[in-house]
Amino acid sequence: MPSGVRVFVDFDGTISLEDTTDVILERFADPEWRTVEAEWLAGRIGSRECLARQIDLVRASREDLRTVIDEVPLDPHFADLVELCRGHGVPLTVISDGLDWVVTKMLARAGLDVPVRANKLEWLGRNRWRLGFPYSATACRAQAGHCKCQALGGEPEKIRILIGDGRSDFCAAETADLVVAKSALAEHCQTAGLAYIVFGNFAGATTLIADWIGGLRRLDQMPRSSKGMVHASPA
Ligand SMILES: [Mg+2]
Ligand SMILES: [Zn+2]
Repeated sequence: MPSGVRVFVDFDGTISLEDTTDVILERFADPEWRTVEAEWLAGRIGSRECLARQIDLVRASREDLRTVIDEVPLDPHFADLVELCRGHGVPLTVISDGLDWVVTKMLARAGLDVPVRANKLEWLGRNRWRLGFPYSATACRAQAGHCKCQALGGEPEKIRILIGDGRSDFCAAETADLVVAKSALAEHCQTAGLAYIVFGNFAGATTLIADWIGGLRRLDQMPRSSKGMVHASPA
């Protein structure tokens, strides 16, 4: 059974302790980016349009962006989850509505080799950048840059665990079988009536998921006839 589990982890605010896109915009974008942000917060535009317009307002060299990569800390216990998943043969994918170049560089800096799906940051030369959206979907409810509901929707037969913190995870939370949430995502699950487990950092999240995988493995080892008993009389 654990081989039928897949783990999807958000990056900004979840693995990275700050939202790296916000840090880049605050430091390097024309202040107009806040007007675009307000349109997105009000629900008038999706994150795809929001991010495309905001990245167009950035004036930063590659060296400038590297300072962000060097300065923003990652949750040091994310490595524990990567190791747990590897040990159990559970695929773990980082799914981000942020900037692929930033996400992959920050994970590499921490010595973490995990697959990443994120928006494609393209350098146009000098201090100009453009954002591409290889994982967007026209049917996306949230008009997101990276359609995370589609990312989770690919293998409906698997048990999909989503770990996240914010608005970019809202639609995927409805598809996930288990949501491990903090901050705005926890509030959203509460309001929307979705089952979720709260986590503070990856030390806690890794313990939760280890217990969960252990429970699945025990269930899987039971004779088929006794499985119903487990549901009928939870300990
Ligand atoms: Mg996030
Ligand atoms: Zn979507």
